[in-house]
Amino acid sequence: MSTHSNPNPLAKARIAVLGYGSQGRAHALNLRDSGLDVVVGLRPNGPTWHKAEADGFTVVEPGEAVKGAGLVAVLTPDMVQPTLYKASIEPNIKAGAALLFAHGFNVHFGQIVPRKDIDVILVAPKGPGALVRSEYERGRGVPCIWAVHQDVSGQAEAITKAYADGIGGGRAMIIATDFKEETETDLFGEQAVLCGGASELVIAGFETLVEAGYQPEIAYYEVMHELKLIVDLFYEGGLTKMLQFVSETAQYGDYVSGPRVIDAGVKARMKDVLRDIQDGTFAKNWTEEYKAGLPNYKKLKQADLDHPIEQVGAALRARMPWLQPEAVEKAATPLKKAG
Ligand code: NAD
Ligand code: MG
Repeated sequence: MSTHSNPNPLAKARIAVLGYGSQGRAHALNLRDSGLDVVVGLRPNGPTWHKAEADGFTVVEPGEAVKGAGLVAVLTPDMVQPTLYKASIEPNIKAGAALLFAHGFNVHFGQIVPRKDIDVILVAPKGPGALVRSEYERGRGVPCIWAVHQDVSGQAEAITKAYADGIGGGRAMIIATDFKEETETDLFGEQAVLCGGASELVIAGFETLVEAGYQPEIAYYEVMHELKLIVDLFYEGGLTKMLQFVSETAQYGDYVSGPRVIDAGVKARMKDVLRDIQDGTFAKNWTEEYKAGLPNYKKLKQADLDHPIEQVGAALRARMPWLQPEAVEKAATPLKKAG
């Protein structure tokens, strides 16, 4: 529900949600429950068409959904968005409408150059789609960051905030950003810390113990399984809560040995990673890799899947029934964004 006193600028607009995956489904359901008019645009034989229909939406092809929409939310995977834009959005979006993204990659790196007669805006929830939906259902919301890239209507900021309100973000917190900051920080986080950094840290720790002759099962518990306990403490209460809940011995080891592992050399290389993101090197390499049919991506992914930590991990997880099967499915899903 809008917390602004002005009339909701989306009240009379039809919203086309393109894509019905993690974010698309959550946005579409929340916007509809906020009283807005939503149509879903998908490929006719795509995997989520029936899901959107079963949720009660009118589902049409993307180009049809875009026609007549006052706001078009682009919630397909990032790498298919440039083709989708050229084929279905550019020829059909009406002048003065708003084009919304949940990640700034394609606009910031020039993979999509939007028409000059539309608003171009961004609302990125700081959580996965399932949480965006479940928090909304509880009467709360997931914080969102928002940005305006192009303002033709003179109302782009109000429209962006109304969308953030519509998906529940306004109930929590919304933070202003720009496409450059959202894109670069999102890529850096997933590369240096979340997906890339964390997985390499775990693998290096596992290999160190196993090469020293310790049992792989015990190494797995120490460096991968128990990471969840620490991350949950970070999530709930930052470093403060983590330090409250671990032993004095663990704290002392943290203070003296942590900086030996993650030293100034790591930070210098993080700066290299950030520079490749900022100067477009990463975007260029990734776009070319995708167009070439993902040869390196597939090879590198297979190497992760074949690592001994995955063999021992699968066997151990099978003996821990409280670990939900959906967590394992998620791990097998390609290119899930972390941030
Ligand atoms: P997803 O992979 O979960 O879902 C993609 C959807 O798009 C599916 O319904 C799929 O069938 C559909 N689709 C694929 N190709 C299509 C095409 N050519 N035409 C129409 N529909 C097509 O994607 P996601 O993770 O929800 O990501 C969507 C956007 O949200 C991306 O820009 C992503 O960066 C951003 N984002 C994601 C998260 C997250 O937690 N997953 C968080 C913030 C932002
Ligand atoms: Mg890796």
